[in-house]
Amino acid sequence: MIHTESLAMTYPGGVTALTPTSVRFERGAVTVLLGPSGAGKSTLLHCLNRLRAPTAGRVVADGVGPLEDAAAIRRHRRRTAMIFQQHQLLPRVSVLRNTLIGRLGHHGFWRSTLPLPAGERRLALDSLERVGLLDKALVRADQLSGGQQQRVGIARALTQQAELVLADEPVASLDPGASRQVLSLLRDVCTERGLTAVISLHQVEYTREFADRVIALADGGVVFDGPPSALDDDVLCRVYGPGAVADLRRDAAGAAA
Ligand code: ADP
Repeated sequence: MIHTESLAMTYPGGVTALTPTSVRFERGAVTVLLGPSGAGKSTLLHCLNRLRAPTAGRVVADGVGPLEDAAAIRRHRRRTAMIFQQHQLLPRVSVLRNTLIGRLGHHGFWRSTLPLPAGERRLALDSLERVGLLDKALVRADQLSGGQQQRVGIARALTQQAELVLADEPVASLDPGASRQVLSLLRDVCTERGLTAVISLHQVEYTREFADRVIALADGGVVFDGPPSALDDDVLCRVYGPGAVADLRRDAAGAAA
């Protein structure tokens, strides 16, 4: 569905966030980018939607080609949804309107200032129903809990009819119960609709529960690429460094609580 070819990123100031990385993301799979803070997860994720331009290499989307010119980037973004850690909703605007923002990429700017067709409203309401928030459609987004706001982000992706969902630490500010609810919803909608998801996470336990495939990053490089069942202590040492496994076990016990 999308792949990178020797993708690399060095930020102005000289920080190398990503060393040359070539990975392919297959259609329909939920891939978790796992790694500690600063490993390069966000940078890789943002390059997949060209929110950041790499300093070397390229991203190639099937059916679109290299994400290098404005037209290709626009076509790719139309079918790609982003879910961020927080602040992704317009706080004083209704949940329904926030969900309909998913349609904006399908219209030109002037068209989007006009009332949206009934079909799009229906699509947004169906999406809200799928994430269990139909009864909140007319509530202001800032009245929702953090977990509910992330579910609106998923409804927006469904309304967009996205094929690729990029989620950057989508549960970083949620408690364990809400985190599991959001991740399990995300996984279920991907399975139902054959969506491809790339999700950055730093929690090993959630990665084991929800990923089809894990790409672990450390210091801007891929140190593991495989199924979650293969995430053993040896791999975790490579990802988080020696001595971190005991800490991770303690965090996992907290997440399970
Ligand atoms: P992660 O998502 O795994 O926490 P990031 O991709 O955010 O990692 O960051 C990777 C590295 O790049 C870190 O060292 C971070 O400090 C640096 N970095 C990220 N964004 C910028 C930026 N805009 N300017 C300079 N350095 C950055």
